[in-house]
Amino acid sequence: MELLRQRILQDGKALSDSILKVDVFLNHQVDPDLMQSVGIDFAEHFKDQGITRVLTIESSGIAPAVYTAQALGVPMVILKKQTSKILNGKVYQTNITSFTKGTSYELTLSMDYISSDDRVLIIDDFLANGEAAMGAVRLCRMAGADIAGIGILIEKSFQNGRKRLIDAGYEVYSQARIAKLGEGLIEFVDE
Ligand code: 5GP
Repeated sequence: MELLRQRILQDGKALSDSILKVDVFLNHQVDPDLMQSVGIDFAEHFKDQGITRVLTIESSGIAPAVYTAQALGVPMVILKKQTSKILNGKVYQTNITSFTKGTSYELTLSMDYISSDDRVLIIDDFLANGEAAMGAVRLCRMAGADIAGIGILIEKSFQNGRKRLIDAGYEVYSQARIAKLGEGLIEFVDE
């Protein structure tokens, strides 16, 4: 998606050869116009897939996911990050190791919001090693829901997340695919 790529070049900061900071428009401050365009683009890509729910992971997935859900005319569901297992309550949980923080948490989904009647589109801000997206996939499967695909704003194509998700049988649509990062360097995959 050209608009997103341009914005990454304008405001993104490569902190190292593996971390891109996009706090200006996505992770700290949010540009609603850009997020709406991103949402419309995801909705256009997945419009024929019979999606009934858009699922995302708190907190940076929420803005793009809500615009995607609005454009598709379906609800958006947020997977919550808990530090420990919740032993009571009707929830599904799965453990995730965070790429950026190196810590782990329980990704949590209430049984009330996704069921075996659903066909889900998973949206997240970044794809690195695919830990978060695979966790979202596991929760959908616990709920018995179908997965229509996975929509990512920024894929770091030099990490193995895309391969993991594709090998597991899921469609991955990434709006901006980064081939290489380095201090002051951001290179996209030729598409
Ligand atoms: P994964 O689970 O695919 O290994 O990592 C994806 C998650 O880690 C995303 O949800 C995102 O929050 C975070 N993440 C991974 N790489 C980056 C990065 O380069 N920049 C930022 N801002 N977040 C990242």
